[in-house]
Amino acid sequence: MDKMNKIGIMGGTFDPIHIGHLIMAESALSELQLDKIIFMPSGKPPHKSSKSISESDIRSDMVKLAIDNNEKFVYSDFELKREGIIYTSDTLELIKNQYTNLDIYFIVGADSILDIEKWHEPAKIFQLCKMVVVDRDNCNDKIIAMKEHLSLKYNAQIYYIKAPLVCISSTYIRNCVANKKSVKYLIPDSVNEYITTHQLYQ
Ligand code: ATP
Ligand code: MG
Repeated sequence: MDKMNKIGIMGGTFDPIHIGHLIMAESALSELQLDKIIFMPSGKPPHKSSKSISESDIRSDMVKLAIDNNEKFVYSDFELKREGIIYTSDTLELIKNQYTNLDIYFIVGADSILDIEKWHEPAKIFQLCKMVVVDRDNCNDKIIAMKEHLSLKYNAQIYYIKAPLVCISSTYIRNCVANKKSVKYLIPDSVNEYITTHQLYQ
């Protein structure tokens, strides 16, 4: 049998990608000795459909610029190129069917894991991948309780990894840009230049 490849998947809207995303991906890669991290921007996620989200091409361009200098970070349009409402459970199933030798680690922030039972088919998600959780907004106790709950209920395999707490969100970046505040050091310079050139978030 082929060697299993340990692949991390970072899903997100990435509107725009910021250093919080990059730090959590790098932490997961190093803590769990993953082979690669796939950055997979989502289409319009069901829970964000009412808000306006930048075009897919724009979000993808920024992801590609941000990960360009890391050979273990890879871009994928797997979710973007599909039509209609796309659920994580379906994406994982499709990937598993297409690439049988993958050991998938799905990387999420605290807000996502605390919310995950509201996602479509959580049981299927936990059957198809291991989950990697990174803290956000100092949720340590809640994450530990949720990890225990999900492990018991779904037999979920959850890794709660230590990564620096980064209190940055894409919402915060968008607000800074709109209010003409600097976002230098919060996003890669290349992404900052892209935002300026394309006059995003104004
Ligand atoms: P928005 O403010 O638009 O919701 P966001 O910063 O939350 O943007 P998303 O694209 O929604 O970014 O997030 C993708 C994934 O990355 C989610 O699992 C989210 O929890 C996680 N994440 C984003 N920023 C951080 C951060 N600073 N620390 C930990 N996890 C994060
Ligand atoms: Mg978010």
